[in-house]
Amino acid sequence: MICQDCGVEADTKHVTFYQNIGALVIRFPKSIDGNLCKSCVHRHFWTMTGVTLVLGWWGMISLIVSPFFVLNNVVRYVLCLGMSAVPPGAAPPELDDSAVQKVKPYVSELFERLNAGEDYHSVAKAVADKSGVTPGQVALFVRAVAAMQDRE
Ligand SMILES: [Zn+2]
Repeated sequence: MICQDCGVEADTKHVTFYQNIGALVIRFPKSIDGNLCKSCVHRHFWTMTGVTLVLGWWGMISLIVSPFFVLNNVVRYVLCLGMSAVPPGAAPPELDDSAVQKVKPYVSELFERLNAGEDYHSVAKAVADKSGVTPGQVALFVRAVAAMQDRE
């Protein structure tokens, strides 16, 4: 719902990409793991897989792990091809006063459903539809309330 890399509110999917740079005796492995939007999936797949294909082979261990990294990346990437693209003009959600006022009437419903163990995304979506904000704004609202409770 909210991309963990660029923060945009769009369709996201959980992915893990790996990159390996082999330097004969040492390796420089790197990975990214999180719920990403399609734009970030694209960007990380091409850079991390590209770097691995070019620089991933120098060293014994590198020679063994790099094909698996590349294979993993390709499989994860292919699974993401069906995602809907980030809508033009999509931006990180903001929790302004008007959004807070709109969500407020649904606070008890929101937290009752979350406490009952309902799926976070579907609750956020349902409350967003009712109150006229975006699911991302509902998520920010929940986060803000949780932060307030932590302070008490
Ligand atoms: Zn993103």
